Amino acid sequence: MTKEYKTIKTELRLPYELAYGATWTRFFEGMKEKKIYGTKCPKCGRVLVPARSFCPRCFVDMGEWIEVSQEGKLVAWCYTNYRYFGMPTEPPFIGAQINLDGTDVNFLHLIGGFDLSNFDEVRKIVKNGMKVRAEWKDDRNAHIMDIRYFKPL
Ligand SMILES: [Zn+2]
Repeated sequence: MTKEYKTIKTELRLPYELAYGATWTRFFEGMKEKKIYGTKCPKCGRVLVPARSFCPRCFVDMGEWIEVSQEGKLVAWCYTNYRYFGMPTEPPFIGAQINLDGTDVNFLHLIGGFDLSNFDEVRKIVKNGMKVRAEWKDDRNAHIMDIRYFKPL
């Protein structure tokens, strides 16, 4: 015998605080100084950004802190023109993977600094492989959004 249950639609919210730890604390403190820090693996030599405490490939502690370039190459991007819970900024915006010069992983951030209201016009500007540079907010508080976005060069 099968019993049927009624359901209701509802929303769960789970506010929480995440402790940065020593590595991310240093990384985010760099944001206040308009610096982007990565760490270099002593075994494979890869530079990872944001800085990490260990290399996820070699499983060794990262040795060296490196201030990485504020310029890089756009690897992939996604245009968002609708509102959703937890979004990084008001739409429309472009989420992007950026390979900062001299690093070995992609940095997830935003592309901006031009009119984003018309997607057809955006597509004429934004191209994979184009050079971009970090644009910083004047009021910084050790947060990833201290970088307003990466602007095409
Ligand atoms: Zn490694």
